[in-house]
Amino acid sequence: MKSPYFTAEHAAFRNTSRLFIEKEIVPYADEWERERRIPEPIWKRMGELGFLGINYPEEYGGIGADFFYSLVFLEELARCTMAGFAAAVSVHAYMASAYISSFATKELKEKYLIPAIKGEKIGALAVTEPDAGSDVASIRTRAVRNEDHYIINGAKTFITNGVHGDFVIVAVKTAPDAGFGGISLVLVDRETPGFTARSLHKIGWHSSDTAELHFDDVKVSVANRIGEENEGFYYIMECFQLERLVSAIIAVAGAEHGLETTLKYITEREAFGRPLAKFQTIRHSLVDMKTELEAARQLTYHTAWQYSQGEQTVMECSMAKLLTTELAKKMADTCLQYFGGYGYMDEYPISRMFRDARAGTIVGGTSEIMREIIARLMIDQVSYDSHRDEKEKKAEIKMPPKETKMEAKRDVPSPLPKTAADIIQTLPVRFRTEKAGDWGTIFHFDISGNEGGQYTVCIQNGACTVEPGLQGDAKCVVKTSDRTYRDIELGKANAEVAFMMRKIKISNITEMMQFTKMFQRLPKE
Ligand SMILES: Cc1cc2nc3c(=O)[nH]c(=O)nc-3n(C[C@H](O)[C@H](O)[C@H](O)COP(=O)(O)OP(=O)(O)OC[C@H]3O[C@@H](n4cnc5c(N)ncnc54)[C@H](O)[C@@H]3O)c2cc1C
Repeated sequence: MKSPYFTAEHAAFRNTSRLFIEKEIVPYADEWERERRIPEPIWKRMGELGFLGINYPEEYGGIGADFFYSLVFLEELARCTMAGFAAAVSVHAYMASAYISSFATKELKEKYLIPAIKGEKIGALAVTEPDAGSDVASIRTRAVRNEDHYIINGAKTFITNGVHGDFVIVAVKTAPDAGFGGISLVLVDRETPGFTARSLHKIGWHSSDTAELHFDDVKVSVANRIGEENEGFYYIMECFQLERLVSAIIAVAGAEHGLETTLKYITEREAFGRPLAKFQTIRHSLVDMKTELEAARQLTYHTAWQYSQGEQTVMECSMAKLLTTELAKKMADTCLQYFGGYGYMDEYPISRMFRDARAGTIVGGTSEIMREIIARLMIDQVSYDSHRDEKEKKAEIKMPPKETKMEAKRDVPSPLPKTAADIIQTLPVRFRTEKAGDWGTIFHFDISGNEGGQYTVCIQNGACTVEPGLQGDAKCVVKTSDRTYRDIELGKANAEVAFMMRKIKISNITEMMQFTKMFQRLPKE
């Protein structure tokens, strides 16, 4: 099918990628699956060919190409008949390397991104823990800062490239009481004392190693932190979009390859004196699969295009991942069925595709979590207005009124204040003394923009005061723009979504949650 997304150069790159996968990967699939690992030289070979740095800046050895070159490479990668290999490569090149490229210091990029792009150092990303997978905010691995280093203690599990990788980007708690506002990312070298890995056995993805990691008083320099302290959750949320998009691309291309393999088989295999391909029930089933796959592919391409334009794609990436990985799982099952008994035998690639496809709906956020994200955006009607310019679109996230104006209390200023500076001055009026009891706190609000300013909000002895400037020891620091603050207060933006989109930074989530309960809301504009 022709597509507006690809140029002649993309097509040429597809040929190069396909040739590489067919000649240098596919013939070794059985061996690598058996040995449960990918040989080191193949990483370097991919590095030499530029496959590990397609979108990364040239100054670090990348190609600096557009995202559709990555899409082409990932589609060809998915045809290698081992989803484990595709996963290992994508975790390294599109997850571990992406965090370094997007958020790390120049020094870390020189030390890790350059060798990662060359295939000399292989990376892993460790977020999941034995007691925290979908619920990223509840991770427990702790990094305690001591001057210029952190001491890390804890465990991670199900980590791709965790056994044979050279470094791991680890999500740690640096402010344990601050929920997702207390997560940081720290790069840990394989050789660091106290860091150990245990290989896990899986039903599929055999060529990729999956590990349980332990951190026992692991000492890591603060210089190894990726980005700002306590901002890790935002980075993870941002990079999840790419991770989910990559999963979708691989799911579609892998399922297509499975379908082609099945088509070939049913054309050759005979029953009742004719090829299986002549039985209507099988023909129609293949047609349905092809049709659904094409629809899923177009959603994925569109999402990739939006992503490549720098658009907000939380909804689309979640939908693409949900649709494609569920479809790939269903298709692998149906395709195996048409191989009959042979489909159940290890030596037939379709059996591997079937085992491998099962992981897609779990890794990188389960289907249930994808549905949850989509439901929040769809049912809670958080929306992004695609007709606005980029800045406006990101700032304004519209929520439907949850309470009517009739329900809103009336003793708030009238007419409604319009600027962030005016709105913050209404806090003492809106303060609910009866809710506060003997609770006390100090908040610093650092609001950028012409209509912002710096304010200290103090709750003490059942009263609330607002003073200009940042005074006293704040229990929570809130940083945002005048527009975001105003939109949240006036009900035009959702605070949780603004937080996830890094439009508002809150140093202590627990304190903030308590704080918001103390105030009457302004009626919505
Ligand atoms: C092969 C493989 C490779 C992996 N590689 C990595 C890696 O490299 N790095 C990494 O950090 N992690 C990795 N993971 C972990 C993966 O991301 C997690 O398994 C996944 O996020 C789910 O977390 P969990 O296993 O703890 O399940 P849980 O969070 O315990 O969920 C269990 C079940 O409950 C459902 N559930 C949970 N919360 C909700 C909710 N709110 N509503 C409805 N249902 C819910 C889930 O959908 C799931 O069905 C890998 C996993 C596998 C299997």
